Amino acid sequence: MNITTQLLLLCTFLLLFTSCSSTEEFTGFSYDPEGVTVTSDKEITPQHRRTIGIMEEGIWFSNEASGTRLNDFYQVNDTLYRAVIKPENYPINNSPWYGFKAWSDRPQTVWVELAYEHGEHRYYPDLSLDGKNWFSLDRSAYRADTAAGTAQLRLDLGPQPLWVSAQEIFGTEEYNWWASNLAQYPFVKRDTIGYSHESRPIEKLTITQASDTQKHGVVIITSRLHPPEITGQMATLAFLEEITSSSPLASRFRNRFEIIAFPFANPDGADNGHWRHNAGGVDLNRDWSDFKQPETSAIRNYLIQEVKNNPYRKVYYGIDFHSTDENIFYPINRSIDTFPENFTYTLVDSIQQAFPDVAFAVEPFDTSSPITKNWIHKTFGADAVTYEVDDRADRDTLKAVARKAANLMMKLLMEDGDEPS
Ligand SMILES: [Zn+2]
Repeated sequence: MNITTQLLLLCTFLLLFTSCSSTEEFTGFSYDPEGVTVTSDKEITPQHRRTIGIMEEGIWFSNEASGTRLNDFYQVNDTLYRAVIKPENYPINNSPWYGFKAWSDRPQTVWVELAYEHGEHRYYPDLSLDGKNWFSLDRSAYRADTAAGTAQLRLDLGPQPLWVSAQEIFGTEEYNWWASNLAQYPFVKRDTIGYSHESRPIEKLTITQASDTQKHGVVIITSRLHPPEITGQMATLAFLEEITSSSPLASRFRNRFEIIAFPFANPDGADNGHWRHNAGGVDLNRDWSDFKQPETSAIRNYLIQEVKNNPYRKVYYGIDFHSTDENIFYPINRSIDTFPENFTYTLVDSIQQAFPDVAFAVEPFDTSSPITKNWIHKTFGADAVTYEVDDRADRDTLKAVARKAANLMMKLLMEDGDEPS
């Protein structure tokens, strides 16, 4: 074989290889249920909101509060009760959210089994006496049965309602309180850019001190596409709070950059205690190609109209906050061109250096899937990352990490030679 033939063969091989990989359609990650990228409306079964009483025992379980989930409740025997938890629709990822208020006419201790349909127990219970301040269930009051996919909780009940939930409850009410506080800064603007299926506002926050007609860089933040992902939500809030801080760095950053944030992007899912989807029964982080859902469409339309076609705004970075069972960053493969080049890798290295005792994983991906960060990259050429926070992460630590991440991002973007002016 001469060198020309060899080259020709190599070219043919490469052509075949690349054309195969580029025409292969993305149909879901390994953990996704079948059909996840078909994002037209799917039927959901809303939970029946009610308080269920076991009269003879004087025990009451309720899912009437926003953000809770309890599909049925009954007594199994003298000492055991069962709480039945179902998803909004299925097939669905295994992130079975539950939540209820429980009380008893007289003080008594009961065991409650969490039994799931179309899922297995995952979240260690959080308790609260006011729905605002949360603490973990004592280890001695917890028995998980991994074979059965259930868990049993020992609860001390009395007339004061006890909140039991998969994670802290953070819904529209909590978001509004937080966002209205943040919007008191003169450089924070809060707007509604669209509405969910159930007519809840899709909100945008902008943070900047650059004027509309001054060339400036943009960072896009999205969060809470998946309802149970509370640690990702907490990281988002801490991250944005740091951007609004009075530090000289934050102040300089706000003069040259603008944060455009959609911090609470699936309000129906959050308030209805969904496992994964919006009220259209769809995984919103698989709709960034077809845009069949109102939440994703509203964000895309705003960014196309107000950023893509605006000569004063240039996107530098995108972060989509989520939660999973570890701290993990999903950057874009190094081989794919981004602007700034490989920014995530530099940022994550700096975060790891600042927190040597916290474990962070990094798993690069190609850009074939219809997820938020890939759309940001495809639309603006910018680098983008999926920032996943461990479900069980210590809350103070995850907030400290997110604040530091914001600091490091601001510092690195300011250092990045290309002055947006
Ligand atoms: Zn997620």
